[in-house]
Amino acid sequence: MKSFDYARADSAEAAVADGGSEGTKFIAGGTNLLDLMKLQVETPARLIDISRLDLASVEATEAGGLSIGALVPNADLAAHEVVRRDYPVLSRALLAGASGQLRNKASTGGNLLQRTRCYYFYDTTSACNKRAPGSGCAAIGGFNRIMAVLGTSDQCIATHPSDMAVAMAALEATVVTLKADGDRRRIALADFHRLPGDTPHIETVLEPGELITHVELPPAPKGRQVYRKVRDRASYAFALVSIAGIVAVEDGRIASAALAFGGLAHKPWRDPAVEAALVGHTPGDAAFAVAADALLADARGFGSNDFKIPLARRTLIATLRELTA
Ligand SMILES: Cc1cc2nc3c(=O)[nH]c(=O)nc-3n(C[C@H](O)[C@H](O)[C@H](O)COP(=O)(O)OP(=O)(O)OC[C@H]3O[C@@H](n4cnc5c(N)ncnc54)[C@H](O)[C@@H]3O)c2cc1C
Ligand code: SF4
Repeated sequence: MKSFDYARADSAEAAVADGGSEGTKFIAGGTNLLDLMKLQVETPARLIDISRLDLASVEATEAGGLSIGALVPNADLAAHEVVRRDYPVLSRALLAGASGQLRNKASTGGNLLQRTRCYYFYDTTSACNKRAPGSGCAAIGGFNRIMAVLGTSDQCIATHPSDMAVAMAALEATVVTLKADGDRRRIALADFHRLPGDTPHIETVLEPGELITHVELPPAPKGRQVYRKVRDRASYAFALVSIAGIVAVEDGRIASAALAFGGLAHKPWRDPAVEAALVGHTPGDAAFAVAADALLADARGFGSNDFKIPLARRTLIATLRELTA
């Protein structure tokens, strides 16, 4: 590990005032950043420890939703009474991630900003446009079993690994931030993460030194909520395909549908065409097949991850059956 400076922030304002300089990174739980530093994938010159800021509470909003502090541990969020009752898809997604020990330490903000699990990203001897822009992409033409099949570019085919973010995408969460100039931003989760394009090293719309302070959820949606995660092991493994689904059925027809997908793209994937294929239709495999066709119309495999395309189809149909049973 390379040497670095360390400072502990005592307020969000102090953190952002200090956070924008070249080579500076915030550290929250450290469960991703420290691993990357040990491997010298990340080599910050300065760390600002935000873990003791007063951002660890979950509160009701005036709009009837929930405000989640950026430092709320994943374990506490999953166990929160209101989350379990009104947003079970979020609780289930959190509990499907990592391990009990990691969830005790992992924060809400850090979870959104965790980096890809692409093998070549972690291997500093491999070409990787995300780690070293312009060096190439060893995953294209390499072993790419866990990589993306939607929204890829010829520069990067990595996936975003978060389970929590997939549930938040289905719930239409908003990320609230504080910038160095004191301005706050509200960013729809759907717009927060970027597709790789020609700049896979730029993963979100955050500006340098911008701090996530909260994530807000709108009032609880109508309908049944399900999180389904398909992975190589039953625990302690990232998603090959995951789906956060919220579907309401009224008078025998699908009245509303929100579906977000993990393991398939560089960001939690939402496609309005999938939801449009369902709303107004009678629940059943005929409608579900049309939704799966819409999801996968532009899917592209890269060899070892070709299996994800039929897997995503089967997982979507199984999830929709569960949601509408
Ligand atoms: C073995 C293992 C298995 C795992 N399995 C899963 C899994 O199955 N599913 C899953 O979803 N996750 C999984 N994870 C990832 C885990 O959820 C993340 O490491 C964790 O959520 C990151 O949170 P943190 O607080 O530790 O972030 P940190 O490591 O502290 O930070 C991560 C990044 O976020 C930035 N950051 C942190 N907080 C803020 C903020 N408030 N504002 C701006 N920037 C910020 C940091 O600068 C850093 O770049 C796993 C991790 C490990 C080690
Ligand atoms: S897929 Fe992305 S993260 Fe993986 S090697 Fe290629 S550029 Fe790097």
